[in-house]
Amino acid sequence: MIEREHHALAYIGLGSNLEAPRDQLERALSALASLPLSECVAHSSLYASAPIGPQDQPDFINAVAAIRTRLSPLALLDQLQALEQRHRRIRERHWGPRTLDLDLLWYAGLQQNTPRLTLPHPEMSRRRFVLEPLAEIAPTLSLDGETPLALAARLTDQTLSRLHD
Ligand code: ADP
Ligand code: MG
Repeated sequence: MIEREHHALAYIGLGSNLEAPRDQLERALSALASLPLSECVAHSSLYASAPIGPQDQPDFINAVAAIRTRLSPLALLDQLQALEQRHRRIRERHWGPRTLDLDLLWYAGLQQNTPRLTLPHPEMSRRRFVLEPLAEIAPTLSLDGETPLALAARLTDQTLSRLHD
């Protein structure tokens, strides 16, 4: 595992639409809080979103978490993918239903494009279910010079609702 000397701030997008999605997300949020060399500093409320892509699947539950970590971006991605596996994620089809999807959205402002990891996550600025939860915990974050809410305001065709506790 590659350790860094300094902590980096990272944002992680969570999504689930199978097998009690709310429970999947609650469990994933506590698992994120106990990742090695990391602490969870904030997380958003839970949201419900209509699926992107195939429509013959349940709505998604989404949230975004902020962690402070000394894991490198790839070591963090390894941890996120191991966590997906522990939630018995089955990859059946692209954009299809899943028990848990964990995307590394943003890592210390780093920009990179490698086969395993693109940062910031290439879809995040086009997904209301990422931007609105992100706005709760990172309202002033700059994504190509724009705040999460400014970007989300253009995506009102995507259905999203904040869940009550
Ligand atoms: P999606 O989230 O687009 O439905 P997956 O979760 O199955 O698809 O991810 C597919 C691949 O995307 C993973 O194997 C991973 O290596 C790659 N990937 C590239 N950039 C990222 C990122 N920022 N966060 C998560 N996965 C990423
Ligand atoms: Mg993913």
